[in-house]
Amino acid sequence: MCTIIIPLNGWAAGERKFRFTAGTEFFQMFGNQEILDANVNVEVRVTKEGSQKVEADVTLKGSVTVQCDRCLEPLQIPVDENPQEVFKPGTVEIEWDLSQEVYDYICLAMPLQRVHPEGQCNPDTVRFLGQSEQVNEEAGTKNSPFAALKGLFKDK
Ligand SMILES: [Zn+2]
Repeated sequence: MCTIIIPLNGWAAGERKFRFTAGTEFFQMFGNQEILDANVNVEVRVTKEGSQKVEADVTLKGSVTVQCDRCLEPLQIPVDENPQEVFKPGTVEIEWDLSQEVYDYICLAMPLQRVHPEGQCNPDTVRFLGQSEQVNEEAGTKNSPFAALKGLFKDK
């Protein structure tokens, strides 16, 4: 089960909590290949007033694993978000699919710079990439975005 669907039928007005887990397959469902591994607890507090007014407050806690930009090793990013935004469905149906909203929110919450804290990168890979940079510096292609890649192939 990798969708986040809130049943809106069958309970009276009031407040209810629903819990879901956004795992690796949740992100794969959206075609996301950046996220290698994920385990995010999604808690949705739904408030229902009458038959036409529904709101949800979402809390996200857990972690996602992506590739480190510096050493290319897996990097675990903690997720601890409570969007101040109140989610509202377009129309009040029998059930409310919040998958897209939750997916978008987790993706937006991820930092742009995805690197291990200083000193925690895989030293072998960093040393290797550092060497490539020196080689390219001599060749005068230091600023090429493909410099690191070229170095990788050259050394093989
Ligand atoms: Zn790293």
